[in-house]
Amino acid sequence: MARTKEDHCNFCGRGRSEVNLLISGINGFICDQCAEQAKMILDEAMARNRKDEIDTLDFASLPRPNDIKEFLDGYVIGQEEAKKALCVAVYNHYKRLLQPKDHDGVEIEKSNIIMVGRTGTGKTLLARTIAKMLKVPFAIVDATVLTEAGYVGEDVESILTRLLMDCDYDTKRAERGIVFIDEIDKIARKGDNPSITRDVSGEGVQQGLLKLLEGSKVNVPPAGGRKHPEQKFIEVDTTNILFICGGAFDGIETKIAARLNTHSVGFKTDEKRKDVDRDNLLQYITPADLKKFGLIPEIVGRLPILTYLEPLDKDALRRILTEPRNAITKQYVKLFAMDGIKLTYDEAVYDYIVAKAIEFKLGARGLRSITESIMMDAMFSMPSSNKKSLKITLDYAKEQLSKSSLERMQVS
Ligand code: ADP
Repeated sequence: MARTKEDHCNFCGRGRSEVNLLISGINGFICDQCAEQAKMILDEAMARNRKDEIDTLDFASLPRPNDIKEFLDGYVIGQEEAKKALCVAVYNHYKRLLQPKDHDGVEIEKSNIIMVGRTGTGKTLLARTIAKMLKVPFAIVDATVLTEAGYVGEDVESILTRLLMDCDYDTKRAERGIVFIDEIDKIARKGDNPSITRDVSGEGVQQGLLKLLEGSKVNVPPAGGRKHPEQKFIEVDTTNILFICGGAFDGIETKIAARLNTHSVGFKTDEKRKDVDRDNLLQYITPADLKKFGLIPEIVGRLPILTYLEPLDKDALRRILTEPRNAITKQYVKLFAMDGIKLTYDEAVYDYIVAKAIEFKLGARGLRSITESIMMDAMFSMPSSNKKSLKITLDYAKEQLSKSSLERMQVS
C-alpha cells in the first residue's frame, strides 16, 4: 500500500493529519481513536475476568458456618439462633451450587429461610451484614410494594430486578444469588380462611411468590415495575436462587400462646410447657402459626427453615450501643476525632440512653436518635472551639435530652 511519508497509526492506517493525536511507540504509532477502542476492549475483558473470578466458588476456600458467624458477631449482638440458621443456609447454598453431578440420585435441594422477629431486632441488619461477605449476588427487597399483576404497585417478578442489578444484569450469576425479602408478613392474607373476595395484596401475591420460591423460569422487567412497557423482559431461572424472608408478624404471639395453652390442657406429658417463657413466645413458633397468621401452606412449605429473633432487653441494647464494630458511640468518637477532639462518655450515660430508648418504646432504632439529640449542641459548637477533649456526663446528657424535640415529643 502506497503511503505518504506522513506518520500514521499502525492500527487503522490513518495519517497524522487525519487524527487528533498520534501516540508514538518504539516501532510505530497509535491514534486517539484506536487507543480509545483498545481501552474499551480491555475494560470488557477485565470485567469478564473479574466475573469469572467471582463465579469460581472454590470449596476449600469457602467460609465455614463458624467463620460467617464470627463475622456477623462483629456487627450484630445476640440473635444466636437466627445467626446459626443463616450461616448454615448460606454455606449449604454454596455447597448446593458446587454439588458434583453424581449419578447417585441424591440432589441437594435448597432450603429457603424465614426469620420472625419484632421490628428493630436486627433482621435487616443480619441480611445486610451477611451480604458484605457473600460470594454470590445479593439483593434486599421489600414485600410491602408487591401487588397482584394488574394492580398499582410492583409485580412479584420485580423482586429479581434488584438481584439482576447487583450483578450488572448477568443472568447466569443472578441465578445463583440470594434474595432477602423483608416484611413478608405484609402479604399475609387477612384471615385464616381463604377469602372468596379478591385480596389484592394477599393471596394473589403469595401465589406469585410461590412460583419464585419453587424454582421456575420467570420474566423479569429489567428496570422494575410496569412503567416502561417498551422494555424487554429478561428470563431468569429461580431454581438455584436462595430466598431469605423476614417479618415482624405482629400479633403472632397471641396465636402461639393460644396454641401452647390448648396443648397443655389435659396432656400430662406436656408438664414442661409450664416453664413457657411468656416474654419470648417467638422461640416456640411453628409453621402452623405462620399459616394461622395468613401465609398459604404452600409458601410455608417452601420456607423450611423457620427461625426467630429475640426481643432486645436492656442488656442487649446496652451492648448494641457500644460493642458492634460500628457501634453508635464509636461513630461519634470518630466524628469528634476528625476535629482533633477526644470524646469520652461516662458509663452512666450509656445506661441513661438505654433507659430512655425503652421508656420511649423506640427499641434499638431509638438509640441513635437519643444519642444524636444529646450530641447535637456539642457537634455544633465544638469544631470552632479550641477544646481538645469532651466528656459526656450524665447531667450533661440529661440536660441536652430535656431540651431536644425528642423529649418534648414524648411529653406532649
Ligand atoms: P428489623 O429489620 O428487625 O426491623 P433492623 O435490622 O433494621 O430491624 O434494626 C434497626 C437498627 O437497630 C439497626 O440498624 C441497628 O442499628 C440496630 N439493631 C437492631 N438489632 C440489633 C442487633 N441485634 N445488634 C446490633 N444492632 C442492632
